[in-house]
Amino acid sequence: MELKNLTLHNYRNYRDCCFTFNPGVNLIVGDNAQGKTNLLEAIGYLGTGKSFRTSKNQELMGFDPDFTEISGSLFSQEREQSLRWVLFSGKPRQLYHNGIKKKTLSQISGVFQTVLFCPEDLMVLKSGSASRRRLGDNALCQLRPNYEAALTQYGKILEQKNRILKDREENPALLEILPEYNTRLCQVGALIISYRARFYEGLGREAAVFHREFSGGKEDFVLTYHTVSTITDPFAPVEVLQQQLREHLESHYRAELQSCQCLTGPHKDDFDVTLSGMSLKAYGSQGQTRTAAISLKLAQRQLMASQSGEIPVLLLDDVLSELDPGRQDFVLNQIHKGQVFITCCEKDRFTKLGKTMEIEKGNLLL
Ligand code: ATP
Ligand code: MG
Repeated sequence: MELKNLTLHNYRNYRDCCFTFNPGVNLIVGDNAQGKTNLLEAIGYLGTGKSFRTSKNQELMGFDPDFTEISGSLFSQEREQSLRWVLFSGKPRQLYHNGIKKKTLSQISGVFQTVLFCPEDLMVLKSGSASRRRLGDNALCQLRPNYEAALTQYGKILEQKNRILKDREENPALLEILPEYNTRLCQVGALIISYRARFYEGLGREAAVFHREFSGGKEDFVLTYHTVSTITDPFAPVEVLQQQLREHLESHYRAELQSCQCLTGPHKDDFDVTLSGMSLKAYGSQGQTRTAAISLKLAQRQLMASQSGEIPVLLLDDVLSELDPGRQDFVLNQIHKGQVFITCCEKDRFTKLGKTMEIEKGNLLL
């Protein structure tokens, strides 16, 4: 998978800018606040229609109120392809694939896959569960378009259910429609758990290989997926998961009414990692936590590569300069295959790795 060109119009601090990239390593250098992360965000957005920094498309738009455009030509699935997003204020965005207008994200599934790695990810195994869910969901959405559709649907039902729970004091009749929402929540929730169980098993297996090599064979990396406590086996058929989800939901009925929010379901899922039997979250050192996070990210890329047959583009935002030389070398040794984008502030730091592009105030310096 290779991004060949990218054109930005009125995107964040880029007024009009065209880039031509290297098939291997691309170094994006520049001082703070010049647009390096913005560029990686645009590359990620091109394939997923999502930003890793915001859920509001409006924030991606620059100072021109008319429209914003992000378009790129790429080589993937053994052919030249193009993707183009046009964003408007106050009306839906448009997506074009090879010049043809598309209605849904699933129509471009697998066309352009990326894996982002930024400094916040280094502590993902110690931080709150939301960042771990984001990490998993981001990879799974790119791998399985049906998962993305289920996740979106789940989010909507959850939001509506929470609204019912909040508004039912003023409007008690709302409680009559609550069972219908619970049924739909269990149906879609069971599907999500089923996808996640398989994904995390693969991710854990790949990460264990990287981590073993990284720790010189000393540490055993084991990833465990945690979901709703009544689920005895997340690999069970979806109908079984649905029933077990319902049991959990029913036992929380009163608590949900009292707290006015939905307390049970895969929106609370998490995973944890043990190193040679010790919980990383509770006992891991800073170094172990960072190493395990690197293993997870490399595993994500490997898993996506083995499932799609193509290596996703790796976006390393400021992460190399955060690592000590030993960890830097490990990452650099693992990324010689596929296309990589590396941002950093120091102009001469990694120049020998590939093509260097300097950014200043949303412009590419020539
Ligand atoms: P650092 O090295 O500090 O990470 P960076 O080069 O990665 O810096 P970015 O985050 O890419 O910096 O760009 C930040 C700049 O983009 C800021 O100056 C910010 O004001 C500007 N910016 C962000 N969103 C918009 C927008 N919608 N319109 C115009 N400018 C924006
Ligand atoms: Mg940045």
